[in-house]
Amino acid sequence: MTAHPPKTAGDLPRVTVLGAGPAGIAAAYALTKGKARVEVLERATVAGGNSTSFQIDGIWCDYGSHRFHPVADPKVLGDVKTLLGDDLLLQPRHGRIRLGGRWIHFPLKLQDAILRLPPAFAASLIGDMVLKKFRRKSQGPKSFSSVLYDGLGPTISENFYFPYVKKLWGLDPDKLAVMLAERRVSGSSIGKILGKMMKMLPGMRGETTGRFFYPKKGFGQISQAMVEASIGQGAAFRFGADIVRIEREGTRVTTVVTRDGGKELRHEADQVYSTIPLTTVVRLMDPPPPPEVMEAAKAIRFRGMILVYLILEADRFTEYDAHYFPELSIPISRMSEPKNYNSATGPKGRTILCAELPCDPGEKWWDMSDEELGRHYCQWLGNLGLPVTMPVIRCETRRIAHAYPVYDLDYQRHFETVDNWLLGLDGFLSFGRQGLFAHDNTHHAFAMAYAAADSLTADGDVDRTAWAAHRHEFESHRVED
Ligand SMILES: Cc1cc2nc3c(=O)[nH]c(=O)nc-3n(C[C@H](O)[C@H](O)[C@H](O)COP(=O)(O)OP(=O)(O)OC[C@H]3O[C@@H](n4cnc5c(N)ncnc54)[C@H](O)[C@@H]3O)c2cc1C
Repeated sequence: MTAHPPKTAGDLPRVTVLGAGPAGIAAAYALTKGKARVEVLERATVAGGNSTSFQIDGIWCDYGSHRFHPVADPKVLGDVKTLLGDDLLLQPRHGRIRLGGRWIHFPLKLQDAILRLPPAFAASLIGDMVLKKFRRKSQGPKSFSSVLYDGLGPTISENFYFPYVKKLWGLDPDKLAVMLAERRVSGSSIGKILGKMMKMLPGMRGETTGRFFYPKKGFGQISQAMVEASIGQGAAFRFGADIVRIEREGTRVTTVVTRDGGKELRHEADQVYSTIPLTTVVRLMDPPPPPEVMEAAKAIRFRGMILVYLILEADRFTEYDAHYFPELSIPISRMSEPKNYNSATGPKGRTILCAELPCDPGEKWWDMSDEELGRHYCQWLGNLGLPVTMPVIRCETRRIAHAYPVYDLDYQRHFETVDNWLLGLDGFLSFGRQGLFAHDNTHHAFAMAYAAADSLTADGDVDRTAWAAHRHEFESHRVED
């Protein structure tokens, strides 16, 4: 059986999109504006990927703290504003981070940092800044730790970044690649961090400084609105799709095959736009890629995460949207209170605390019951001076296998082997967070999808020169927290 109607002269090109996370959805949205006929194949039963939302006890929850950042490309931001209308709120950021054993406002504010940082910690930071010129630069091959140490000095590196990345990626900072520092660390010197703090001062800040966009019905409302608009423009979404293989003839990808019960369904298209993990693509390719590509794909790793939702009998736990925990004494990296993201006033007598627990299958937390994780969670909060004094109704969890790409010291070599092979295929384009192994935000995934749509020609080919230029642009993407 075939899914796409056959192509006749004058028809728009047919594109099969793999994955309905933000990248896949935005591709469908952009392509169905008169560029192509689109079918989206998604394994899950809902859209949104890691950016989806769902309700627990009447409260909209995300897969961990998700904010739509105002630094998004104006075209992307403009579309999100149009799609969401009055449902898109502009919210003040109001978080806290543990530094030197004290809670400091996050994003950092100058007056708060001066008043709250322990004097010895602050003096050490100033010392790092003053002595930067005289500090001996790290010798040998560069890594995340050497770049941070040289740029920021020991105090902020050792008290914040090093334990934080160890927790997030499960690797020591000297086993992580320089790329991680380039993508993730926007304040690469204490001067830059101070500059950012100055911009937070009243009178110095712009309309969106220290703010974020957030929809009334959870972060996933953005994806949902885009799915509905795409369907309105003619896109077809197939949820619960079980992709069994991606067929190719030589270097041309021809067909994606799904299984539905006992039947196979063939999805023939001019282009397959893939936003699923590139490692999965390699596994599904038929015939398989050369052995060196298979080997490289096996060496590429994603970090998993458990989201632990503690459901409490209280209107609110704190006034803060998020708490950041860099220290290694507790395994969670961040905790958010979803009601504080959309300023929800209801339901009464219920709030939820969502913890992000970076963890891979096989680690001890992965197989732990919800009840046990909930008990640990309360204990960790108690140890940090945030005791859970109200009744705990229950604990729920969600597990995601592809939370973060792991940029270890060898990742670039392996990624390039797979990426170059995929780039050599006709009728196939890989992009998005999972498709380009990019530690990116949602607005970056949207921007990549728009670029992919832009690169499609009227006769159904990809303009490779245009795509190469877009890939170059993606290198400037910097992660916002
Ligand atoms: C804890 C956490 C916090 C984050 N916070 C923010 C934030 O505050 N702001 C922000 O902008 N971004 C944030 N992000 C990043 C954001 O979630 C991603 O940038 C975004 O979801 C990437 O979209 P994507 O479509 O590229 O990938 P994904 O969202 O991963 O979507 C990929 C899709 O492919 C599907 N798929 C996978 N395999 C198959 C298969 N075999 N067949 C069919 N479908 C398949 C998946 O089910 C999924 O729907 C955060 C991420 C995490 C993990």
